[in-house]
Amino acid sequence: MTPITSLGWTSFFEDQLSPAERQSDLIRARVAAEHKHRYMLLAESGELSAKLAGKLRHQAIDRAELPAVGDWVVARLRPDDPSAALIQRVLTRKTRFSRKQCGQRHAEQIVAANVDTLFLISSLNQELNVRRLERYLTTAWEGGAVPVILLNKADLHLNPTTEITRIRALTGSVPIHVLSAKDEIGIDALNTYLTAGQTSAMIGSSGVGKSTLINRLLGHERQAVMQIREDDDMGRHTTTSRELFMLPGGGLVIDTPGMREFQLWDADSGLSLAFEQIESTARSCGFRNCTHQGEPRCAIAAELESGRLDRRRYENYLKLQRELEHQATKADPVATRRQRDQRRKRGRRQRKMMKNRTKW
Ligand code: GDP
Ligand code: ZN
Repeated sequence: MTPITSLGWTSFFEDQLSPAERQSDLIRARVAAEHKHRYMLLAESGELSAKLAGKLRHQAIDRAELPAVGDWVVARLRPDDPSAALIQRVLTRKTRFSRKQCGQRHAEQIVAANVDTLFLISSLNQELNVRRLERYLTTAWEGGAVPVILLNKADLHLNPTTEITRIRALTGSVPIHVLSAKDEIGIDALNTYLTAGQTSAMIGSSGVGKSTLINRLLGHERQAVMQIREDDDMGRHTTTSRELFMLPGGGLVIDTPGMREFQLWDADSGLSLAFEQIESTARSCGFRNCTHQGEPRCAIAAELESGRLDRRRYENYLKLQRELEHQATKADPVATRRQRDQRRKRGRRQRKMMKNRTKW
C-alpha cells in the first residue's frame, strides 16, 4: 500500500469529494500516463489501467476537461477486474502546465497537472536563450507552479558565477541552482523541492540533461524498467511509458513528451520572432524611453497602424513584460522603487507632452 498523501493527495482534493464519492467502491487515483484515452493510474493499491466512463467522455466539451498526467481522478474499479478502472471525474487542478495557441480560446492542452515545482533546466555550455526562459517563467506563473532554474553541466563551465549573476538580473527572486547531473554535483540541493507528496516537472531544450537528471533522482535508468504493456480494444498490445514517477526519496516527478515538445510548439507560435521584431522596432521610436502610448514619432504605433505588427501579438508582449515586472518586484524592494520612479518620470513626460500638444 502506498499512502495516498505520498502520491500528492492533499486537503485541496479531499475537500472536492462529495459524500457519494466517498463511498467505498470509488477510489482516488492519480494519472501516471495517458495514451489515446487509455490511462495508467497510481492508487493506494498500486497501478491500475483505466478508461473514461462514458458520461465523462460524452460530457467533456474540450480536451482540457479530460484527464492529463498528474491529474487526480475519482474512479470505479471494474467488478470483473480489480486492476482495471473507469474514470468518473477529474478533480479541479491545483496547478496546470498547458500549451495555448495565442488567441484561440479552446486550444488549451494540459501537458501536466498539479505540478508544485517547475524546474526550468538549461545547460551551462550553451548560450542561455533568455527569451525562452522568460516564456517558460510566464507559463509556470500562469499555471500556478513555482519555477526554479537549474543550470546543468557545471563541469563544463569554468566560471558559472558570472552566468548566474547575468541570469539573476533577469529573473529576480527565482531560485537558481547550479549542478552537474553527470558528476552528481549539486543534486542534493533539489531535495527541498522533492519531499514526500511534492510534484515536480522539468522543461528545457533537448540535450540539456533532463533524462540524465531524472535517472540520477530515480537511482536507475528509467527507460529500461518503466514500460508498461496493455491490451487495447482490438486485442493488440500497445506500449505506454509511465510519465509520473515516485522518487526513492519521496517526491514525484513528471516527465511527459508534452513537456519535451513544449519548446517546439513555442518556436512554431512565432512568439519569439515577434518579440524580437517588437524590440527592434522600439529602437527606432523618436524618444529613447518611448512607452508607445501616443508619443510623437512612435515606431510601434506606426507598425500597428500599418498592420505590419499584429495587435494581439503586441498585447501578449505587453502582458508578458508586466508579468515579469510584477514577479521581479514582488520580492525585490530595490526594483520596486526603481520601477515606481520610472513610472513617475514617464507620467511627468506624458503630461508635459500633452501640455505641449494643446499649445500647438
Ligand atoms: P535531455 O535531452 O535533456 O534528456 O538530455 P540528456 O540527459 O539525454 O543529456 C544529453 C547529453 O548531455 C548526454 O550525452 C549526457 O550524458 C550529457 N550530460 C547530461 N548531464 C551532464 C552534465 O552535468 N555534464 C556533462 N558534461 N554532460 C552531461
Ligand atoms: Zn514608441
